Amino acid sequence: MIRVALVGAAGRMGRAIAEAAAATTDVRIVACVDVPQNLPAVGGVWSDDLAKVVEPGMVVVEFAGPEGAVQAAAVCAAHGLPLVSGSTGLPAEGEAALRAAAARVAVFRASNFSVGVAALRLALRATLAAVPGEWDIEIIERHHRLKKDSPSGTALTLADDALAARGLGRDALRHGREGVVGARTNTEIGVHAMRGGTWVGDHTVLLAGPGETLELRHVAQDRAAFAHGAVAAARYVASAPSGYHGMEDLLRGPGPLTS
Ligand code: NAD
Repeated sequence: MIRVALVGAAGRMGRAIAEAAAATTDVRIVACVDVPQNLPAVGGVWSDDLAKVVEPGMVVVEFAGPEGAVQAAAVCAAHGLPLVSGSTGLPAEGEAALRAAAARVAVFRASNFSVGVAALRLALRATLAAVPGEWDIEIIERHHRLKKDSPSGTALTLADDALAARGLGRDALRHGREGVVGARTNTEIGVHAMRGGTWVGDHTVLLAGPGETLELRHVAQDRAAFAHGAVAAARYVASAPSGYHGMEDLLRGPGPLTS
Protein backbone atom coordinates (compact mmCIF):
# COMPACT_ATOMS: atom_id res chain seq x y z
CA MET A 1 0.00 0.00 0.00
CA ILE A 2 1.35 3.46 -0.91
CA ARG A 3 0.47 5.94 1.85
CA VAL A 4 0.16 9.53 0.65
CA ALA A 5 0.21 12.88 2.43
CA LEU A 6 -1.71 15.25 0.12
CA VAL A 7 -0.78 18.95 0.32
CA GLY A 8 -3.32 21.43 -1.05
CA ALA A 9 -5.91 18.74 -0.34
CA ALA A 10 -8.86 21.18 -0.14
CA GLY A 11 -8.12 22.63 -3.59
CA ARG A 12 -9.48 21.65 -7.01
CA MET A 13 -6.57 19.32 -7.80
CA GLY A 14 -6.37 18.02 -4.23
CA ARG A 15 -9.99 16.88 -4.40
CA ALA A 16 -9.52 15.30 -7.85
CA ILE A 17 -6.44 13.38 -6.63
CA ALA A 18 -8.28 12.13 -3.53
CA GLU A 19 -11.05 10.85 -5.82
CA ALA A 20 -8.57 9.16 -8.19
CA ALA A 21 -6.71 7.53 -5.28
CA ALA A 22 -9.98 6.28 -3.76
CA ALA A 23 -10.63 4.37 -6.98
CA THR A 24 -7.37 2.40 -6.63
CA THR A 25 -6.57 -0.52 -4.38
CA ASP A 26 -2.92 0.38 -3.76
CA VAL A 27 -2.80 4.16 -3.10
CA ARG A 28 -4.37 5.62 0.03
CA ILE A 29 -4.50 9.26 1.16
CA VAL A 30 -3.66 9.04 4.88
CA ALA A 31 -3.03 12.74 5.59
CA CYS A 32 -4.55 15.91 4.11
CA VAL A 33 -2.74 19.24 4.49
CA ASP A 34 -3.98 22.72 3.65
CA VAL A 35 -3.79 26.26 5.01
CA PRO A 36 -5.76 26.86 8.25
CA GLN A 37 -8.50 28.95 6.58
CA ASN A 38 -9.21 26.18 4.04
CA LEU A 39 -9.24 23.19 6.42
CA PRO A 40 -12.68 21.58 6.02
CA ALA A 41 -12.25 19.77 9.34
CA VAL A 42 -10.00 19.93 12.37
CA GLY A 43 -8.25 16.75 13.44
CA GLY A 44 -8.69 13.35 11.77
CA VAL A 45 -6.60 13.18 8.63
CA TRP A 46 -6.58 17.00 8.22
CA SER A 47 -3.70 19.22 9.34
CA ASP A 48 -2.19 22.60 8.51
CA ASP A 49 1.37 21.34 9.10
CA LEU A 50 2.90 18.71 6.82
CA ALA A 51 5.90 18.23 9.14
CA LYS A 52 3.53 17.06 11.89
CA VAL A 53 1.80 14.36 9.83
CA VAL A 54 4.60 12.77 7.79
CA GLU A 55 5.77 9.29 8.73
CA PRO A 56 8.51 7.04 7.32
CA GLY A 57 7.47 5.32 4.10
CA MET A 58 4.94 7.97 3.03
CA VAL A 59 4.86 9.73 -0.33
CA VAL A 60 4.04 13.46 -0.33
CA VAL A 61 1.92 14.75 -3.23
CA GLU A 62 1.54 18.52 -3.50
CA PHE A 63 -0.68 20.70 -5.69
CA ALA A 64 -0.67 23.69 -3.33
CA GLY A 65 0.84 26.55 -5.35
CA PRO A 66 4.41 27.89 -5.33
CA GLU A 67 4.75 28.44 -1.57
CA GLY A 68 3.28 25.04 -0.69
CA ALA A 69 5.60 23.36 -3.21
CA VAL A 70 8.75 24.83 -1.65
CA GLN A 71 7.54 24.03 1.88
CA ALA A 72 6.72 20.43 0.91
CA ALA A 73 10.15 20.01 -0.72
CA ALA A 74 11.87 21.17 2.48
CA VAL A 75 9.85 18.74 4.64
CA CYS A 76 10.50 15.86 2.22
CA ALA A 77 14.25 16.55 2.14
CA ALA A 78 14.38 16.77 5.95
CA HIS A 79 12.37 13.54 6.46
CA GLY A 80 13.74 11.52 3.52
CA LEU A 81 10.37 11.22 1.76
CA PRO A 82 9.67 11.13 -1.98
CA LEU A 83 7.70 14.05 -3.44
CA VAL A 84 5.29 14.43 -6.35
CA SER A 85 5.05 18.13 -7.15
CA GLY A 86 2.49 19.59 -9.56
CA SER A 87 2.35 23.29 -8.71
CA THR A 88 3.12 25.74 -11.49
CA GLY A 89 4.20 29.38 -11.50
CA LEU A 90 7.21 28.88 -9.23
CA PRO A 91 9.87 31.59 -9.43
CA ALA A 92 13.38 30.44 -10.42
CA GLU A 93 14.46 30.18 -6.78
CA GLY A 94 11.45 27.95 -6.06
CA GLU A 95 12.37 25.59 -8.90
CA ALA A 96 15.97 25.62 -7.59
CA ALA A 97 14.74 24.62 -4.11
CA LEU A 98 12.92 21.61 -5.62
CA ARG A 99 16.02 20.60 -7.56
CA ALA A 100 18.07 20.92 -4.36
CA ALA A 101 15.62 18.58 -2.58
CA ALA A 102 16.09 16.09 -5.45
CA ALA A 103 19.73 15.69 -4.37
CA ARG A 104 18.40 13.97 -1.22
CA VAL A 105 15.06 12.39 -2.20
CA ALA A 106 13.09 11.41 -5.31
CA VAL A 107 11.23 14.45 -6.69
CA PHE A 108 8.70 13.87 -9.48
CA ARG A 109 7.85 17.17 -11.10
CA ALA A 110 5.64 17.90 -14.11
CA SER A 111 3.88 21.02 -15.32
CA ASN A 112 1.19 18.70 -16.70
CA PHE A 113 0.41 15.20 -15.45
CA SER A 114 -1.91 14.17 -18.29
CA VAL A 115 -0.92 11.39 -20.67
CA GLY A 116 -2.36 13.42 -23.54
CA VAL A 117 0.03 16.34 -22.99
CA ALA A 118 2.97 13.92 -22.76
CA ALA A 119 1.84 12.59 -26.17
CA LEU A 120 1.37 16.16 -27.47
CA ARG A 121 5.01 16.92 -26.58
CA LEU A 122 6.18 13.85 -28.54
CA ALA A 123 3.97 14.89 -31.48
CA LEU A 124 5.34 18.44 -31.36
CA ARG A 125 8.92 17.18 -31.42
CA ALA A 126 8.19 15.00 -34.46
CA THR A 127 6.23 17.76 -36.22
CA LEU A 128 8.93 20.39 -35.74
CA ALA A 129 11.47 17.97 -37.17
CA ALA A 130 9.23 17.47 -40.21
CA VAL A 131 8.22 21.04 -41.16
CA PRO A 132 10.58 23.73 -42.50
CA GLY A 133 12.35 25.80 -39.82
CA GLU A 134 10.74 29.02 -41.16
CA TRP A 135 7.23 27.95 -40.13
CA ASP A 136 5.81 30.23 -37.45
CA ILE A 137 4.98 28.80 -34.02
CA GLU A 138 2.28 30.25 -31.76
CA ILE A 139 1.09 28.70 -28.49
CA ILE A 140 -2.44 29.42 -27.28
CA GLU A 141 -3.70 28.28 -23.90
CA ARG A 142 -7.08 28.64 -22.17
CA HIS A 143 -7.78 28.16 -18.47
CA HIS A 144 -10.48 28.90 -15.92
CA ARG A 145 -10.84 32.44 -14.58
CA LEU A 146 -9.31 31.58 -11.17
CA LYS A 147 -5.94 30.39 -12.46
CA LYS A 148 -3.21 32.46 -10.83
CA ASP A 149 -0.16 32.08 -13.11
CA SER A 150 0.09 33.06 -16.79
CA PRO A 151 1.07 31.68 -19.16
CA SER A 152 0.42 28.19 -17.84
CA GLY A 153 3.30 25.93 -16.82
CA THR A 154 2.29 23.60 -19.66
CA ALA A 155 2.43 26.43 -22.23
CA LEU A 156 5.93 27.26 -21.01
CA THR A 157 6.96 23.59 -21.24
CA LEU A 158 5.65 23.45 -24.83
CA ALA A 159 7.40 26.76 -25.55
CA ASP A 160 10.67 25.39 -24.12
CA ASP A 161 10.33 22.30 -26.36
CA ALA A 162 9.79 24.54 -29.41
CA LEU A 163 12.62 26.91 -28.42
CA ALA A 164 14.99 23.95 -28.01
CA ALA A 165 14.00 22.59 -31.45
CA ARG A 166 14.70 26.01 -32.99
CA GLY A 167 17.87 26.75 -30.97
CA LEU A 168 16.27 29.83 -29.36
CA GLY A 169 16.20 31.16 -25.77
CA ARG A 170 13.28 32.37 -23.64
CA ASP A 171 13.88 35.95 -24.89
CA ALA A 172 12.36 34.78 -28.20
CA LEU A 173 8.92 34.41 -26.58
CA ARG A 174 6.31 37.09 -27.38
CA HIS A 175 3.63 37.12 -24.68
CA GLY A 176 0.70 38.64 -26.53
CA ARG A 177 1.25 41.50 -28.96
CA GLU A 178 0.10 45.08 -28.71
CA GLY A 179 0.78 48.22 -30.70
CA VAL A 180 2.90 48.59 -33.80
CA VAL A 181 5.16 45.61 -33.25
CA GLY A 182 6.14 45.25 -36.90
CA ALA A 183 6.16 42.14 -39.05
CA ARG A 184 6.57 38.81 -37.37
CA THR A 185 10.01 37.23 -37.58
CA ASN A 186 10.60 33.49 -37.53
CA THR A 187 12.92 33.83 -34.55
CA GLU A 188 9.95 34.53 -32.27
CA ILE A 189 7.36 32.27 -30.70
CA GLY A 190 4.04 33.76 -29.60
CA VAL A 191 2.44 32.68 -26.31
CA HIS A 192 -1.14 33.73 -25.58
CA ALA A 193 -3.08 33.09 -22.37
CA MET A 194 -6.90 33.20 -22.39
CA ARG A 195 -8.73 33.24 -19.06
CA GLY A 196 -12.41 32.71 -18.42
CA GLY A 197 -15.16 30.46 -17.20
CA THR A 198 -14.26 26.98 -16.04
CA TRP A 199 -11.82 25.72 -18.71
CA VAL A 200 -9.72 22.99 -17.07
CA GLY A 201 -6.80 23.33 -19.50
CA ASP A 202 -6.59 23.71 -23.25
CA HIS A 203 -3.30 24.00 -25.17
CA THR A 204 -2.82 24.50 -28.89
CA VAL A 205 0.46 24.71 -30.77
CA LEU A 206 -0.22 26.45 -34.05
CA LEU A 207 2.30 26.01 -36.87
CA ALA A 208 1.89 28.31 -39.85
CA GLY A 209 3.70 27.99 -43.16
CA PRO A 210 3.12 29.65 -46.51
CA GLY A 211 -0.44 28.77 -47.52
CA GLU A 212 -1.04 26.18 -44.79
CA THR A 213 -1.44 25.81 -41.03
CA LEU A 214 -1.30 22.88 -38.68
CA GLU A 215 -2.65 22.75 -35.12
CA LEU A 216 -1.73 20.32 -32.38
CA ARG A 217 -4.24 20.58 -29.55
CA HIS A 218 -4.87 18.96 -26.20
CA VAL A 219 -8.01 19.61 -24.16
CA ALA A 220 -8.29 18.54 -20.55
CA GLN A 221 -12.03 18.26 -19.93
CA ASP A 222 -11.73 17.07 -16.37
CA ARG A 223 -9.06 17.30 -13.64
CA ALA A 224 -9.13 13.50 -13.57
CA ALA A 225 -6.72 13.77 -16.54
CA PHE A 226 -4.06 15.20 -14.20
CA ALA A 227 -5.15 13.32 -11.09
CA HIS A 228 -4.60 9.84 -12.57
CA GLY A 229 -1.12 10.91 -13.68
CA ALA A 230 -0.35 12.23 -10.19
CA VAL A 231 -1.45 8.92 -8.62
CA ALA A 232 0.72 7.02 -11.12
CA ALA A 233 3.61 9.34 -10.23
CA ALA A 234 3.10 8.56 -6.52
CA ARG A 235 3.49 4.85 -7.36
CA TYR A 236 6.58 5.64 -9.40
CA VAL A 237 8.41 7.75 -6.77
CA ALA A 238 7.57 5.34 -3.96
CA SER A 239 10.42 3.13 -5.18
CA ALA A 240 12.47 5.60 -7.26
CA PRO A 241 16.01 6.65 -6.32
CA SER A 242 16.73 10.24 -5.29
CA GLY A 243 16.84 12.62 -8.24
CA TYR A 244 14.56 14.61 -10.49
CA HIS A 245 11.92 12.58 -12.35
CA GLY A 246 9.25 13.54 -14.89
CA MET A 247 6.52 12.26 -17.20
CA GLU A 248 9.02 10.81 -19.69
CA ASP A 249 10.38 8.53 -16.93
CA LEU A 250 6.84 7.50 -15.99
CA LEU A 251 5.87 6.68 -19.58
CA ARG A 252 9.09 4.67 -20.00
CA GLY A 253 8.55 2.84 -16.68
CA PRO A 254 7.28 -0.73 -16.35
CA GLY A 255 3.98 -0.09 -14.55
CA PRO A 256 0.56 0.83 -15.95
CA LEU A 257 -0.33 4.53 -15.83
CA THR A 258 -3.62 3.92 -14.08
CA SER A 259 -4.84 0.95 -12.11
P1 NAD B 1 -6.56 25.61 -5.86
O1 NAD B 1 -6.38 27.05 -5.52
O2 NAD B 1 -7.93 25.09 -6.13
O3 NAD B 1 -5.94 24.70 -4.67
C1 NAD B 1 -4.74 24.98 -4.02
C2 NAD B 1 -4.90 24.53 -2.58
O4 NAD B 1 -3.62 24.66 -1.94
C3 NAD B 1 -5.89 25.42 -1.80
O5 NAD B 1 -6.77 24.61 -1.06
C4 NAD B 1 -4.98 26.25 -0.88
O6 NAD B 1 -5.59 26.61 0.34
C5 NAD B 1 -3.82 25.27 -0.68
N1 NAD B 1 -2.57 25.93 -0.24
C6 NAD B 1 -2.09 27.13 -0.60
N2 NAD B 1 -0.90 27.36 0.00
C7 NAD B 1 -0.64 26.26 0.75
C8 NAD B 1 0.42 25.90 1.61
N3 NAD B 1 1.47 26.71 1.81
N4 NAD B 1 0.37 24.69 2.23
C9 NAD B 1 -0.69 23.86 2.05
N5 NAD B 1 -1.74 24.15 1.24
C10 NAD B 1 -1.71 25.34 0.60
O7 NAD B 1 -5.60 25.34 -7.10
P2 NAD B 1 -5.60 24.07 -8.08
O8 NAD B 1 -6.39 24.38 -9.29
O9 NAD B 1 -5.89 22.83 -7.30
O10 NAD B 1 -4.06 24.08 -8.52
C11 NAD B 1 -3.02 23.94 -7.58
C12 NAD B 1 -1.68 24.06 -8.29
O11 NAD B 1 -1.53 22.97 -9.21
C13 NAD B 1 -1.54 25.34 -9.14
O12 NAD B 1 -0.19 25.76 -9.08
C14 NAD B 1 -1.90 24.86 -10.53
O13 NAD B 1 -1.37 25.66 -11.56
C15 NAD B 1 -1.28 23.48 -10.51
N6 NAD B 1 -1.83 22.53 -11.48
C16 NAD B 1 -0.95 21.67 -11.99
C17 NAD B 1 -1.39 20.67 -12.85
C18 NAD B 1 -0.39 19.68 -13.38
O14 NAD B 1 -0.78 18.75 -14.13
N7 NAD B 1 0.89 19.81 -13.02
C19 NAD B 1 -2.75 20.57 -13.19
C20 NAD B 1 -3.64 21.48 -12.62
C21 NAD B 1 -3.18 22.46 -11.75
